Amino acid sequence: MPELPEVEVTRLSFSEGIRGATILAARLGLPLRWPLGIQPQQLQGQTVQAVRRRGKYLLIDLSDGLLLMHLGMSGSVIFADVLALAGKHDHFDLETSLGTLRLNDPRRFGAVVFASGEDDPVAHKLLGRLGVEPLGDDFDALIFYQSLQQRKAPIKQVLLAGDVVVGVGNIYASEALFLAGIRPTTRANRLSRPRVLRLHGAIRQVLVRAVEKGGSTLRDFSNAQGESGHFQLEAMVYAREGEACRQCGTAIKSIRQGQRSTFFCPLCQKP
Ligand SMILES: [Zn+2]
Repeated sequence: MPELPEVEVTRLSFSEGIRGATILAARLGLPLRWPLGIQPQQLQGQTVQAVRRRGKYLLIDLSDGLLLMHLGMSGSVIFADVLALAGKHDHFDLETSLGTLRLNDPRRFGAVVFASGEDDPVAHKLLGRLGVEPLGDDFDALIFYQSLQQRKAPIKQVLLAGDVVVGVGNIYASEALFLAGIRPTTRANRLSRPRVLRLHGAIRQVLVRAVEKGGSTLRDFSNAQGESGHFQLEAMVYAREGEACRQCGTAIKSIRQGQRSTFFCPLCQKP
């Protein structure tokens, strides 16, 4: 599923192009995870002010309100002057004076939701419980350490839960824990301060690198210009079960944690 870096790469690939556009029409396909919340015609005439990101949500600021877009499990966005007729997996088109923004989502776990503002209960429900942005200034190493002290769950589960720090999904949590030398099963509150500081740096490093690389190519991710990413090519542990650790040569292990696959090096990553 698209993780934070893929959503950020998506944002970067169309945010400048659509800025200032006037909405000419909006078209809905099959129902997505949540309803739009207004009639599509009500978007007509609004202008797009900016495109921001919060966690894995794209926030499309309009002259009056905003659209929250989530890519779900399989969503991708394309923004182009001219698009083919909507196919069976195209479930939202925002036709604007500068091009059409289209959400393609075969599994339909994604959504586009209108909110009058970020304090609208609709927006609050989706964004309210999110932890700090890992790439923002609020992601402070010491506060991160203090938050982890309150958690007894395995560190990887805590990262995935998203309420301490948002948007560190399966791929990037696995990779960051490798860089920090931490076993994914280690209880969060058992991590020493120096190890948490290392993890803090590793999370940022992994995410920044992934955005620079254009996101992961896993599950056919591509940005709004149709270009795919290259992060997965250099993964240290993710999806490398049985392969040699790039650092020590030991076979990478895979376990299940909360129904998700976790990959780690039993030698480089200490409990
Ligand atoms: Zn190793």
